[in-house]
Amino acid sequence: FSRLRSGLSKSSNRLADGVTAIFTKRRLDDETLEELHDLLVTADLGVPAATRITEALAKDKFDKEISDVEVREALASEVAMSLTPLEQSLTIDREKKPHILLMVGVNGAGKTTTIGKLARKFADEGLSVMLAAGDTFRAAAIEQLLVWGERTGAPVVTKEIGADAAGLAYDAVKRAQESGTDVLMIDTAGRLQNKRELMDELAKIVRVIKKLDATAPHNVVLTLDATVGQNALSQAEAFQEIAGVTGLVMTKLDGTARGGVLVALADKFSLPIHFIGVGEGVEDLQEFRADAFARALSG
Ligand code: GDP
Repeated sequence: FSRLRSGLSKSSNRLADGVTAIFTKRRLDDETLEELHDLLVTADLGVPAATRITEALAKDKFDKEISDVEVREALASEVAMSLTPLEQSLTIDREKKPHILLMVGVNGAGKTTTIGKLARKFADEGLSVMLAAGDTFRAAAIEQLLVWGERTGAPVVTKEIGADAAGLAYDAVKRAQESGTDVLMIDTAGRLQNKRELMDELAKIVRVIKKLDATAPHNVVLTLDATVGQNALSQAEAFQEIAGVTGLVMTKLDGTARGGVLVALADKFSLPIHFIGVGEGVEDLQEFRADAFARALSG
């Protein structure tokens, strides 16, 4: 929690200082409510959440004196309420062998790092893990995945640069099936600027996976970078359309002033939030906890 709290301190300072500035020796009236609404929207929480929070406050406290502490508490409780239903851990079905996770997201979002962190976590839980370097166009992506494989003891299935990603996915699933591997994580390309091409590529990957296991992929996990703020919303929308996302990992919540976007994402997409990334190290992945997040965000 302290890691998340210090990570989110930029978000929470901005919110807490803003709340204090608005509510020092002032009543809860139309003017202060409007200022609070603006503050929440600027902090990326989105208009629906900002409206819910200000309406909840107005209902109980309109025309009364209110302290900044009370406002922050109301904020934390509203954020926790909207995020709690989305607090869903990623459960691996040990019967699947392999349980297949298709990992999607734009380049730079922290997808490969998240795969590495998850590989360590699953290995620590006694699961055997295999990785597939499905971003076949980026040499750096393949190399980085190999490094994570070495670090975590997970075999990495690779092909030459420019190889067909679906062919690679097929080989990886076959290998994982034959070796009785518990979890297979398939990295994918993140070229959202070529949406059509990426859509075709991901659709083809899913098609070939299904040839070997009709129930797969068992999760399509979208990695989003918190520091991009509102852009996370358009990325989520695009990958929903392209790949049918089943859950989220939000990275880089350490040291960003934009943690509030998770609330806007929740409102818009209602996607389960599995994990948050709070650093670059292998241990810097936490199960998402709505209460802790809400408290860290509201200061
Ligand atoms: P990919 O292109 O989506 O695979 O992104 P990478 O996994 O290569 O990550 C891009 C950069 O973000 C790297 O420098 C990572 O170390 C960094 N990164 C990933 N997750 C986190 C996180 O939770 N916090 C911080 N501070 N950096 C992260």
